[in-house]
Amino acid sequence: MDITSVQAYRVAHSREDLRLAPGEAYLAGGTWIMSEPQPATTGLVDLTGLDWPALEETPEGLRIAATCTIANLVAWAGTAPTHWPAASLVPAAANALLASFKIWNTATVGGNICRAFGAAAMVSLCVALDADAVVWSGDGEKRIPVADLITGNGTTILTSGDVLRAVEIPAYALASRAVLRKIALAEHGRSGAVVTGRVDRDGASVFAVTAATATPTVLRFAQLPAESELADAVASTTGYYTDPLGAADWRRAVSVELATRIRAELA
Ligand SMILES: Cc1cc2nc3c(=O)[nH]c(=O)nc-3n(C[C@H](O)[C@H](O)[C@H](O)COP(=O)(O)OP(=O)(O)OC[C@H]3O[C@@H](n4cnc5c(N)ncnc54)[C@H](O)[C@@H]3O)c2cc1C
Repeated sequence: MDITSVQAYRVAHSREDLRLAPGEAYLAGGTWIMSEPQPATTGLVDLTGLDWPALEETPEGLRIAATCTIANLVAWAGTAPTHWPAASLVPAAANALLASFKIWNTATVGGNICRAFGAAAMVSLCVALDADAVVWSGDGEKRIPVADLITGNGTTILTSGDVLRAVEIPAYALASRAVLRKIALAEHGRSGAVVTGRVDRDGASVFAVTAATATPTVLRFAQLPAESELADAVASTTGYYTDPLGAADWRRAVSVELATRIRAELA
């Protein structure tokens, strides 16, 4: 642990406890925040004491508390209702993380989304399935598509004091047929591109590119597009970027390839 600047730690038990004092930051699983120096952080506010129910199935869909661990979500997927076949994306997304099972048991869905790395596979999962983020901001609450929450590789629209309370996946998306494919430069490296595709009950299809583009890219079609139409749409997307996990041109090329393969599986 390198967070020598932290002098104070408190557990939040109520919404009032979430008001941050100067220098405080939220702590969820701590797998990122405790992994590197945080010179601007002098206090941590632990969200896990809020005891939010991890997973709630409702007629509208699935509500995942921000504090739900990735392991908990994967376990749920193994017993998910059969009319929600897109639950199969959950283990695929969890496996897209460069994370051992020990990280799964501690890292939270909300922490992964709020950290917002390009390789944040809980973002890929949520974007694939049209999930909304429920954000507590001051005394209010707002709902934002997770796809719109992310502003770049590692940045979000959240400001200090905003709390991600939950993500909500609609039932119609869970009822779709869905596929996730990823690629990384190294066999066990962080994802350079994650592509998802799904076909809804009404025949409409949605393809999403994450990790390869700085912000999530969502492509919607009235039906499953022809291979060339899909390839053109993915190739002409803007926002492919270069970093140590892959060059922009490579990310563009592999995203087209992954989307084409997913389309073939869904066809
Ligand atoms: C070996 C290893 C491999 C990893 N691989 C990946 C990877 O492949 N992809 C990836 O994206 N990350 C990866 N990480 C980074 C990190 O572990 C994950 O992003 C993890 O999901 C973060 O979740 P957490 O609950 O531990 O968050 P924390 O570390 O507790 O918090 C992360 C950030 O989010 C904020 N935060 C947390 N919850 C909320 C909330 N509800 N509302 C508002 N702000 C909040 C915190 O203040 C902090 O800034 C890896 C880490 C390790 C150690």
